Amino acid sequence: MLFPFLHCLQLWLFFGFLSPSLFIIYLTTIFIVGNKRYSVILILDLFLMTMKVAIIGQGVIGTTSAYTILKRFPGASVILFGDRPFEKTCSVGPAGLFRLDKFENRRWAKASFDFFAEVEKTYPADETGVKLVSGHIQSDNKENLEGQERNYGDIVYNFRWLTEREIKALFPEPSKYCIHYTAYASEGRRYVPWLRKQCEDLGAKYIQKTISSINELFDGDQSFNVIVNAAGLNGGKIAGDDDSVFPVRGVGFEVEAPWHKHFNYRDFTTFTIPMTNSVLLGSVKQANRDDLEITDEDRKDIWERYLKLQPNFKNVKIIGEWSGIRPDRPSLRLEKFTKKNKRGENVLCIHNYGHGGNGFTLGYGTALDVVKFIEESEFGRNEGKSKL
Ligand SMILES: Cc1cc2nc3c(=O)[nH]c(=O)nc-3n(C[C@H](O)[C@H](O)[C@H](O)COP(=O)(O)OP(=O)(O)OC[C@H]3O[C@@H](n4cnc5c(N)ncnc54)[C@H](O)[C@@H]3O)c2cc1C
Repeated sequence: MLFPFLHCLQLWLFFGFLSPSLFIIYLTTIFIVGNKRYSVILILDLFLMTMKVAIIGQGVIGTTSAYTILKRFPGASVILFGDRPFEKTCSVGPAGLFRLDKFENRRWAKASFDFFAEVEKTYPADETGVKLVSGHIQSDNKENLEGQERNYGDIVYNFRWLTEREIKALFPEPSKYCIHYTAYASEGRRYVPWLRKQCEDLGAKYIQKTISSINELFDGDQSFNVIVNAAGLNGGKIAGDDDSVFPVRGVGFEVEAPWHKHFNYRDFTTFTIPMTNSVLLGSVKQANRDDLEITDEDRKDIWERYLKLQPNFKNVKIIGEWSGIRPDRPSLRLEKFTKKNKRGENVLCIHNYGHGGNGFTLGYGTALDVVKFIEESEFGRNEGKSKL
């Protein structure tokens, strides 16, 4: 009895204090040779030790949460629930430009920016959707642009104010002020499926199923150690204690303009952003509207505004239309609490929703906090360690 135990301890120390799970694997392997009954018990132990995670949401927030959890805890079992196909989520359409509306969210934006830098250096953009783009934001309201500078001017590359000469030379109907910067854009339709593939390679399961509330998973037949609520617009309903989430309707046109290489904004609502094979042109920001049908009024309004900004778009070919509902909230919700389920087991619940118009800018950063919450819990302390 003592020999196999000491032998495992020796192996475990040799491999650098790997996880307790691995320690048990070593122990089990030894016992398989010597005593089959003990090995079954120990395999069962190992099974019971695996952290089981449920994530409600398969959009950019749910998927980045799964990705960071699996990178940090490679032995975890992760299931992501979604009530609709990815093509019907808000995360499918955006060009995902890095831009930040709220100063208070800077920390998460900075962490995402650092992640995008690593991804962009390592993988081709047609695989990940993550690429560098430069461009301009114009406005007659200087304070709005100063706000942008405060929020992310020192995170992005090449942030600067254009001179009057540059503004007049660049734009046919210029606004008074204009900023320029270079940053990453993480195109939803490529970035989220790429992350999903990484998660599935690490064992994640995607299941299409409507979850009515966090309690459904909490007290369900399947037992989970950690539940992450990343249900976007339905995040408040699923939490059961939050009616502050509100929809902000957006509309985008996908156009063919391969010669257009810069993002071009006026006042955050009228814009184009280059994507891998097309350009996204938008938009509207209609608070408290969640209707998805695109009307002639939308088309007229958006095109008229954009053509004033860039008249040479007059004859570009429209290859697609898309509308999405930004899941907004006075401030995004990133919180944890622990509760006992009906079996008397502790369950760590984490809310991660309400990212509004900045889900791509903030997603990776907030997912790192999800990991931090797990690390601080009893489940994180039991699981193996890996680098993010
Ligand atoms: C026009 C437009 C342009 C944008 N541009 C940018 C940009 O350039 N940069 C940027 O950072 N952000 C941008 N955004 C914002 C970004 O798209 C959102 O912040 C982001 O997609 C929100 O992601 P999410 O995962 O929270 O929500 P979603 O993508 O909506 O995903 C929610 C998930 O929850 C699941 N779900 C919901 N209810 C249930 C339920 N009851 N049971 C099970 N599953 C459920 C859904 O199936 C889905 O998988 C833009 C948005 C729009 C509309």
